[in-house]
Amino acid sequence: MLVGSKAHKVIIIGSGPAGYTAGLYAARALLDPLMFAGYMSGGQLMLTSDVENFPGYPVGIGGPEMMIHMREQAERFGLEVRDKNVERVDFSERPFGIWVEGEEFRAEAVIICTGAEAIWLGVEGEDAHRGRGISTCATCDGAFFRDEEIIVIGGGDSAMEEATFLTRFASKVTIVHRREGFRASKVMYERAVNHPNIAVKTFRQVKSWLSDKNGLTGAVLEDPRDGSEEEISCTGAFIAIGHKPMTGFLEGEVEMDDSGYIMHTEHTMTSVAGVFAAGDVVDKRYRQAVTAAGMGCQAAMDAEKWLENQH
Ligand code: NAP
Repeated sequence: MLVGSKAHKVIIIGSGPAGYTAGLYAARALLDPLMFAGYMSGGQLMLTSDVENFPGYPVGIGGPEMMIHMREQAERFGLEVRDKNVERVDFSERPFGIWVEGEEFRAEAVIICTGAEAIWLGVEGEDAHRGRGISTCATCDGAFFRDEEIIVIGGGDSAMEEATFLTRFASKVTIVHRREGFRASKVMYERAVNHPNIAVKTFRQVKSWLSDKNGLTGAVLEDPRDGSEEEISCTGAFIAIGHKPMTGFLEGEVEMDDSGYIMHTEHTMTSVAGVFAAGDVVDKRYRQAVTAAGMGCQAAMDAEKWLENQH
């Protein structure tokens, strides 16, 4: 059933810095934007402890706090936010169709800001311990591992951030990385590896997880150079090996690359005229809160210009 007698001018799918900034700009342009923020609104920053690199916060700010501020700011100018997930879309005709909990909504322009989610290793024994010993979010689950030995897998900023954060709880944290070089920024790498409770193991990949009746007990690590194996003991593990875009519900509707990231055609426009995308759902290079926010602004301005030219 079509909700309301006319289509919304702009519907924003997804929250986070890109979505809220798009919402702020679209609201200030009097486009009466409606946002479907998802059941877990705010995106990945809701799982981030401290944001120290967003301009304007000289002493940093908590990720969730920053998302609350962004949402409040956009709502003050008229963004309507519903904490619901979009199930499917139909971009084959205009106004575009968007289905949420069985209800149909229509929009003249759509801005997709659904972001990305953590990737799991997918090795033997992992499924049994997802959320019960193995996690992808230290901020969410770190406190469960007080005085325990844990490992963090990955060599990027996420792994460094998770490892450093986890020293608040764990007695020992070992970073396990598959090669010698680290992708992480120098400052975050040094903060982690110089911490007295953090050890680093390079040239090691998790081959399988070990457990007993009480839960996770360790992992079998493999040296990718020669296939040799060793065991490491741990009662908790955090996987920080990157993210994948949340575009499953858009299959066949907009052009994506091989990894599922939405592709831009002109500026922030997707392969469908009138459908725009911003933030981590298109960006596998920068993936910063500040770049996502900037792109959200661009997408709202592009949508505004495009709508203007339709009449
Ligand atoms: P990332 O930079 O892509 O790093 C992923 C890491 O996981 C790499 O070291 C990679 O190894 C490793 N990896 C990938 N697949 C693996 C597998 N199957 N098995 C073992 N290791 C695997 O991802 P990220 O750390 O999540 O960071 C993403 C972006 O967010 C970056 O731009 C980063 O700067 C940003 N970020 C910023 C902050 C902050 O500033 N506070 C915090 C977190 C993230 P290789 O290096 O060998 O490929």
